[in-house]
Amino acid sequence: MNDPLPVASTEALELRRLAEASGAMTDSTVTESDTCRLLHELQVHQIELSLQNDELRLARTKLQDALELYTELYDFAPIGYFTLDRTGRIVQLNLAGAELLGQPRGTLVDQRLGSYLTPAARRLLADCLMRIHAGQSPCHCELALAGPDLNPRYVYLEARLNASGQTCRAALLDITARKQAEAELEIAASVFETLNEGVLITDAENRIVSVNPAFIRLTGYPAADVLGQNPRLLQSGRHDAAFYRDLWAALLTTGQWAGEISNRRKTGELFHEWLSIHTVHGPDGQVQRRIGVFTDISEQKRMADKIWKQANYDTLTGLPNRQLFQDRLELDIIKAQRSGGKLAVLLLDIDQFKAINDTLGHAAGDQVLVEAARRLLACVRTTDTVARLGGDEFAVILPDPTSTERVGLVAQALLDGLAQPFAMPGETVHLTASIGITLYPVDGGVTAEIMKHADLAMYEAKRQGNHFHYFNRALQTDAQARLRLIKELRAALSAGDQLRVYFQPIVELRTGGIAKAEALVRWQHPTRGLVSPAEFIPLAEQCGLIHSLGDWVFQQSARWVLQRRQNGAPFRVSVNKSPLQFLSGHTEQTWPAGLQAMGLPGEAIIIEVTEGLLLSDRPEVLDKLRQLHAAGMRLAIDDFGTGYSALSYLNRFAADYIKIDASFIRDLETNPANQALCEAIIVMAHKLGIQVIAEGVETPAQRDWLLAAGCDFAQGYLFARPAPAEALTW
Ligand code: C2E
Ligand code: CA
Ligand code: CA
Repeated sequence: MNDPLPVASTEALELRRLAEASGAMTDSTVTESDTCRLLHELQVHQIELSLQNDELRLARTKLQDALELYTELYDFAPIGYFTLDRTGRIVQLNLAGAELLGQPRGTLVDQRLGSYLTPAARRLLADCLMRIHAGQSPCHCELALAGPDLNPRYVYLEARLNASGQTCRAALLDITARKQAEAELEIAASVFETLNEGVLITDAENRIVSVNPAFIRLTGYPAADVLGQNPRLLQSGRHDAAFYRDLWAALLTTGQWAGEISNRRKTGELFHEWLSIHTVHGPDGQVQRRIGVFTDISEQKRMADKIWKQANYDTLTGLPNRQLFQDRLELDIIKAQRSGGKLAVLLLDIDQFKAINDTLGHAAGDQVLVEAARRLLACVRTTDTVARLGGDEFAVILPDPTSTERVGLVAQALLDGLAQPFAMPGETVHLTASIGITLYPVDGGVTAEIMKHADLAMYEAKRQGNHFHYFNRALQTDAQARLRLIKELRAALSAGDQLRVYFQPIVELRTGGIAKAEALVRWQHPTRGLVSPAEFIPLAEQCGLIHSLGDWVFQQSARWVLQRRQNGAPFRVSVNKSPLQFLSGHTEQTWPAGLQAMGLPGEAIIIEVTEGLLLSDRPEVLDKLRQLHAAGMRLAIDDFGTGYSALSYLNRFAADYIKIDASFIRDLETNPANQALCEAIIVMAHKLGIQVIAEGVETPAQRDWLLAAGCDFAQGYLFARPAPAEALTW
């Protein structure tokens, strides 16, 4: 029992330490009570020790857990954690950090974080690190990662110095999505600001919450005036309630509306916009915003209107033109068809309007047309259409006239309106017109037919000089007969056996000698007998046959005059020439060449033209006249006194003869006015070096009067009727 206690364990060592501390071990003699006490103490100590061990174990486990948790948090945190040294070299990083840089973690340690940044970001980082190590911890900045330009990625960096002062901890947060959203917002904002279209945004209560500068510019309202207001403040009052009802119905059902709308600017000025409205819904499906985007289309509308007007209205008078007239007529026909009603079309042509243009000039002519249009409009109801079909031709539609008589009354009113004198500067103009009337459905069922028949009726009115004429079937028959005649004339001309040239002498009054004759064409029709040139010349003009007919007469006349000259007398033949023969063809070359080929001088031919031709505003016409004159041909003004009889141009075009129209000769002996006129013409012509031929001289008294008045030549039944060459007795 005296043996020292076995020392074989830590517990034993501890025990010894305890014994020594209590002094028991210094004494060589250990009593039993000592032993008991020591044992007891030992037991107590052992218990304490085992308790301490448990705590230690527990603490170690906790530490282990914490470490695991930390590692997990560190590695799998959504934020990239880096430990960087002074130079920005990566000492340590978590998995999120590696993922941010797009490299395996292992390869990143010891790399510079800067090499994964754009050059600008690299400088920012260097600057940040410098500041941290200079004591300005923490430090933060936004850095762009190096990568494709199209999809740049950004991180937010916050760095703090570590306790050691050697490294810093940097947390990197991916902010690419936010930056993208910001960039998009910025783009949207600059689009909103710079857009040419006006934008207005309303809330669910339809109050304006935002407008862009274009809105302000286009409407003239500053933002302050409209924010919080209902967009209705722009309303023009041009749309009815149904328009807005439809708009809202579309908005509420489809969330969208687009269309043309008229609004008012702050100044009150009306403007037209193309507006499209879109609805933005919140996550709960409720209306959050409505976005209205509009373009000012006032200018386009004005242009479109202008183009439409130009295409459909006559620019001079402002009346509908032929195009619009036809559209309206078609519409009115459809309406009449449906209602079983009637319709009247009046085709009006101003008589001899060309004379006004020719004598007063085109500006005055235009003025007369404008005033005429105004007067025509004043004679009809607003539901009637008055159109200008072109030139001096107008047309009126009377939808559903109460009676045929009423149509006649309107026609008369139109004519009366035009008959009022037109006071032009320095001149008073008197107009007459001719109207052809067709009635739907009796005279025609379709536009073309109605217009064709109105035209026939109008020409009949002109022909009869009775101002207005209703279409009838006889007119149509006449027109058909004319067409047939044209066909026959063409055949006659190519066969060459039915047409003949007659000659009528032009007598020198002083001597009674005959040195000139007029060539007058005749048509010996196989069934109709002799057809007057007064009838078929206009037809030939209508269908273009006048050119070949005129050339044929010219050749016949030249051949005849060649014979007459065989005895050496300087005979001349006078050939009538239609104005149309100057408008196309090349008689100014072919006729002189023809004469030359026959060995005839130019002066063997006198060309008879009517006054109107000299008034032509087409330079080529007068040019051709001059060329013929230069080739030696003489020029006679036919039917002088019936047209415009402006004396000034006679000299200008070097006329050689004036032919006083037969209508002034007929009652010459008894009509002092005609006597005065003839005297004046003769005196004036002589002053200009022009010789005078009197036409239609039938009596010796007329001849004597003319001779006494100094007239140079006369032509008429008194001397001889026109006759074919072989039957001439003179
Ligand atoms: P115009 O040039 O004025 O011809 C004179 C017309 O008066 C002729 O009628 C002639 O026959 C007629 N006449 C002659 N003397 C008298 C008379 O004493 N009393 C009456 N009452 N009449 C007389 P015509 O031959 O029937 O010709 C009619 C018109 O046809 C001509 O009028 C002329 O404008 C045109 N014409 C005739 N031949 C031609 C032609 O070859 N070419 C062209 N372009 N027109 C022609
Ligand atoms: Ca003649
Ligand atoms: Ca004549």
